[in-house]
Amino acid sequence: MIAVLKHNATNEQIENLTAWLEGRGLKVHISRGDLYTILGLIGDTSQIDTELLEGLEMVDSVKRVSEPFKSANRKFHPADSVIEIPLPDSKGVLKIGGDENFQMIAGPCSVESPEQILSIAESVSASGATILRGGAFKPRTSPYDFQGLRADGIELLLEAKKRTGMPIVTEIMNANHLDLFDEVDIIQVGARNMQNFELLKELGKRQKPILLKRGLANTLQELLMSAEYIMAGGNHNIILCERGIRTFETYTRNTLDLSAIPMLRELTHLPVVIDPSHACGVARLVQPMAMAAAAAGAHGLIIEVHNDPVNALCDGAQSLTPEQFAKVAEKVQKIREVVTQA
Ligand code: PEP
Ligand code: MN
Repeated sequence: MIAVLKHNATNEQIENLTAWLEGRGLKVHISRGDLYTILGLIGDTSQIDTELLEGLEMVDSVKRVSEPFKSANRKFHPADSVIEIPLPDSKGVLKIGGDENFQMIAGPCSVESPEQILSIAESVSASGATILRGGAFKPRTSPYDFQGLRADGIELLLEAKKRTGMPIVTEIMNANHLDLFDEVDIIQVGARNMQNFELLKELGKRQKPILLKRGLANTLQELLMSAEYIMAGGNHNIILCERGIRTFETYTRNTLDLSAIPMLRELTHLPVVIDPSHACGVARLVQPMAMAAAAAGAHGLIIEVHNDPVNALCDGAQSLTPEQFAKVAEKVQKIREVVTQA
């Protein structure tokens, strides 16, 4: 980190600031120029509040030269992380991450009934999905909308897992519900909870894989800092998910940031999954975006599928029918063949 001081900074101010920074465990390299004095801060600067520093009277500007995320940083872990998801009945593991391990996650926005989840699970499994998604606790904008089947929804997902052999992913909204997630294979942290730091800390205490979705208005660095919260607690099993960010565009529900894939792959070793369903909000856009994401190097896709989208209790407009999903899976498979040969 570099702090450029104002040209009128006095020696006393520089000495006081240096002592303050050294008190925080940093080495301070002072470089005095004709106009400006520059302090080079060496050591773990992740503890330093750059805005606080920049706000000091004698400081002109502050620039980070190293990222504040350490555990998630590819610089300190050059190889791709491969997250292992246990298959039911001790049938080994599914891997996600690295160039070879791509997974298709599919299922309804919300678990609605035994018939619905079982029929969707069976059809997406038959067309190549490897992990079943389904919301039990739903973060709805309106309190009057369907809130999910909650604990009963998780029970139904576990039943579908038993029948199909697919691991399951479902969203947690409250750390108090963690006991209900014992047999859930991947815990989703939704976009709205990406910065629920107390929840992230609790998830850091377990070794369960976490699907961490990017918030509606969060930068990639903020996403990585949220991953860092979980990793700081000891849980390194994190899958990042880009699900569209809010922009001025209104034809789509959100704007899919496809450049997040190569950028995150540069910045971090953690796998990156794309959710084209929430990104677009329009079912017919899911196929082209899914193909583009696979082409850009995503490690997986999470896609909403419903047996009766028109009557879905949540997110019907963006949900594919099982037949449409089968086509998308086939196209994505073809793109993957090209990507892995390239
Ligand atoms: C979901 O996956 O159903 C969901 C609510 O996702 P997001 O948090 O990305 O909106
Ligand atoms: Mn949804």
